Amino acid sequence: LAQTCSNAPVALYDSEHTSQALRRIRVEADLKDAIDQQLLEVFFQPQVNVSTKEVVAAEALVRWKHTELGMISPGEFIPIAEENGMIVALGEVVFIKTLKTLKTLDKLGCSVPISINIGSDHFLMHNFVSWCSEAVEREQVPVQFVKLELTESTLLNSVEEGVKVLSQLRSKGFKIALDDFGTGYSSLSYLLELPLDQLKIDKQFVDMLDKDKRSENLLSHLVGLAHELDLQVVVEGVENEAQVSFMEHADADLIQGFYYYKPLPQQEFVYLLSKPVN
Ligand code: C2E
Ligand code: MG
Ligand code: MG
Ligand code: MG
Repeated sequence: LAQTCSNAPVALYDSEHTSQALRRIRVEADLKDAIDQQLLEVFFQPQVNVSTKEVVAAEALVRWKHTELGMISPGEFIPIAEENGMIVALGEVVFIKTLKTLKTLDKLGCSVPISINIGSDHFLMHNFVSWCSEAVEREQVPVQFVKLELTESTLLNSVEEGVKVLSQLRSKGFKIALDDFGTGYSSLSYLLELPLDQLKIDKQFVDMLDKDKRSENLLSHLVGLAHELDLQVVVEGVENEAQVSFMEHADADLIQGFYYYKPLPQQEFVYLLSKPVN
C-alpha cells in the first residue's frame, strides 16, 4: 500500500515540472519570433504629480499577446530574455516604439518624460550610449524626455563601469532612474556614487503601509534621503486612497499605481495627454 500511495504524488510533481519546462521552451522559442515580427506592444503607465494630480510622466512597459497562449506577463518572459540575450533586441524594439510615441506627443505639443526599462546586458553593450543617441537623433525626439530605468543589480554588476556609462548618458541629455529601489541588497553609499535623477521606491514598501505602522517612518525617511541627494521620488504600486494621502504627507513627487492608472495602450495614452485637461 505504502508503495502505491507514494508513487502518485511523485508522478504529479513530475508532470507539473514537465509542463513548466515545456511552457518555458515554447515561450522562449516564440519570443524570438515575436521580437522579429514586431508582435510586441508597448503600453504606457501614467505617473501623477502628488500635489497637482496631473499626469506629468509615464513608464513604457512591454506587452505580449501570444496568438495561442494569450497575454504573457513580462514577469514571465523578461527573465527568459535576460538569460538568453534576447533582452537586447527586445529592449531596442521598446526603445524605438517609445521614441515614436514621444515624437507623436511632441507634434501634439503635450510631451512628458517617458521611462524605458533597460536590461543588464543591454546597458553593458559596448555601444549602448551611441546606439541610444543615434536613435534619438534619427527619430528627432527631444532627448530630455527620454529616461532610462536601471535596477540596482544592473548598476552594481560593476559600479565603476555603471558610473561611467551613466555619466555619458547624462552628458548626452538622457535622464536616469533607479528602479525597484529597496529590493536589492546594496549599500546606501552607492546612492552617492551613482549619477541619478530619480529614485523609484518599490511597491513592496507601499504594500507594507497597510500592514506595519513602522513602514510609514521608513518611507518618509527614504523620501527625505532621496531629496537630500536631489533625486526626484516616484512611488510605485499605489493602489488605494490611504496610500495616496500618505505619499502626500511623506512629500513624494510622483505616484505610479493602479489607483490612478493601469498601463494604457499607446493610443489611449496619447489621447489622455492630448485632452485639454487631464
Ligand atoms: P517595473 O519596471 O518595476 O514596472 C512596474 C510594474 O509594476 C509593472 O508591471 C506595472 O504594471 C506594475 N504596477 C504598477 N502599478 C501597480 C499597482 O498599483 N499594482 C500592481 N499590482 N502592479 C502595479 P509589468 O508591466 O508586469 O512589468 C513587470 C516588470 O517587468 C517591470 O517592473 C520590469 O522589471 C519588467 N519589464 C516590463 N517591461 C519591460 C521592458 O520593456 N524591458 C525590460 N527590460 N523590462 C521590462
Ligand atoms: Mg521600471
Ligand atoms: Mg519598478
Ligand atoms: Mg518592480
